[in-house]
Amino acid sequence: MPEQYKELNEIQEQLEKHYSDMQDIEFTVQDGKLWLLQTRTGKRTGAAMVKIAVDMLNEGIIDEKEAIMRQEPEKLDELLHPVFSKDAIAKAKVQAKGLPASPGAATGQLVFFADECGKYENSILARIETSPEDLEGMNIANGILTAKGGMTSHAAVVARGMGKCCVSGAGSIKIDYKARTMTTDGRTYKEGEWISLNGSTGELYDGKLDTIDPEVGGDFAKIMELADKYSRMYVRTNADTPHDSKVARDFGAKGIGLCRTEHMFFEGEKIVAMREMILAKDLKGRQEALDKLLPIQQKDFEGIFEAMQDLPVTVRLLAPPLHEFVPHDEKGQQEMADVMGVSIDVIKEKVESLHEFNPMLGHRGCRLGNTYPEITIMQTRAIIGAALALKKKGITAKPEIMIPLTGTYAEMKMQEDICRDTIKKVFAETGMEIDHLVGTMIEIPRAALTADEIAKSAEFFSFGTNDLTQMTFGYSRDDTGVFMPVYLKKGLLKHDPFEVLDQEGVGQLVKMAVDKGRQTRPDIKLGICGEHGGEPSSVEFCHRVGLDYVSCSPYRVPIARLAAAQATIREM
Ligand code: PEP
Ligand code: MG
Repeated sequence: MPEQYKELNEIQEQLEKHYSDMQDIEFTVQDGKLWLLQTRTGKRTGAAMVKIAVDMLNEGIIDEKEAIMRQEPEKLDELLHPVFSKDAIAKAKVQAKGLPASPGAATGQLVFFADECGKYENSILARIETSPEDLEGMNIANGILTAKGGMTSHAAVVARGMGKCCVSGAGSIKIDYKARTMTTDGRTYKEGEWISLNGSTGELYDGKLDTIDPEVGGDFAKIMELADKYSRMYVRTNADTPHDSKVARDFGAKGIGLCRTEHMFFEGEKIVAMREMILAKDLKGRQEALDKLLPIQQKDFEGIFEAMQDLPVTVRLLAPPLHEFVPHDEKGQQEMADVMGVSIDVIKEKVESLHEFNPMLGHRGCRLGNTYPEITIMQTRAIIGAALALKKKGITAKPEIMIPLTGTYAEMKMQEDICRDTIKKVFAETGMEIDHLVGTMIEIPRAALTADEIAKSAEFFSFGTNDLTQMTFGYSRDDTGVFMPVYLKKGLLKHDPFEVLDQEGVGQLVKMAVDKGRQTRPDIKLGICGEHGGEPSSVEFCHRVGLDYVSCSPYRVPIARLAAAQATIREM
């Protein structure tokens, strides 16, 4: 039907020009006559979304701003992570549903222990919840599944940092570590059986599903370049390894907004020295262990500063509760007893003494550095020492020391004094100096309420909206898996506030702290490093309240760049 074909082609071109967007057209040919039944803007994949906008921009059909506004930032996930093939997903049997903690598709054989992730070429690590010591295994696994935990639980945050698929808080699965089984929906899986995870929907499927690897083309780079041209805010990343820093830099991050130092202590021998520090009976023992940690920690920072050279790096001092670092198993406790030359009972007793009823509200954050100033001193030495070591090599490091979990001016001031005093000493010892900042996270409601006071001591604020959400709502960030799905289903909440910033409540505290901080220190640097820093509606909020930057996990950097540009354009 060459005639009808020609006519159809002309009409579809006309429609595309008229609507200046790709059309999804329905037509029929009856008795040789072409009839158009319907036209509407076509649905598209992430890759098509980018390509269509760039093509139309090149053809002069839309302008740059329109090309940016046409993007759905979250859809970029499809370009950055593997997805399941359409066929595979159509046949897949959903076996459980949890939270969509980190996007992408993963398939692999079940393992229940982090140190067994290398047992299979493709593994999925299933845990009741993860902790920092599972880090190495999480790095090896294709995907991570947890029965407990919310959108900002350890598994979720770490997986997002790695760009790895994760489903957290799948409340219906029962994991039996002893039997090495997982039961869900009446089916019991043994170790080694294949399962698949969709981190974008939170679904768990039976068996091995085909995945398609992502592909990022030149059109993506074009859209990203345009985004930076228009956005007022810039985007940093949350990264704590040279590898993640490099990934983020390649995705366009303009610095690190949060380098969590705790993960660094789990590799190789570091954990032993760290445990010695925590289990030491007195200051002398702690100091000896810290002396061992100092050069190792400095080397870690050198790696990160080098990967991020010329760009600012915010390093957060030690924050998690100490019990997360100590061994809870007999074997690990015996090892530490041998290393420290004490009986296993001494180690057991110390480990037990670290137990807290509410660790998230316990001995963590700057409470650690204020009770054990020697930790702050060691970390400050390592940060400044690393920056100076690079300076000697002609590499510019821009360190920013961040105090975690500040609630009062006095807490901040004590930490600031320790940092500044240590920095002065390092400068005097080395005869060298380096530009640096000392600031704080704002992640406790009281800190937001008294931000004018805290800004007297802090040169920058970074909003830790994971904890700020936890403490404003009073929801434990690690225990939302049980009630959050019900709350969402019943409409008690529109979104999981750990995923989408609650602008009405938590946002008020952010806004208040921004205003109060600037009142005291007009040039205070303001950013966000909670998980919301990579969520588009939250990024827009950050733009509206006047933050300088948002910081998010490496794979969300492009999403945040786009969201920041859209927020600026919406105001034009
Ligand atoms: C936060 O609380 O938002 C934050 C970034 O710190 P963490 O998630 O490490 O507690
Ligand atoms: Mg926090």
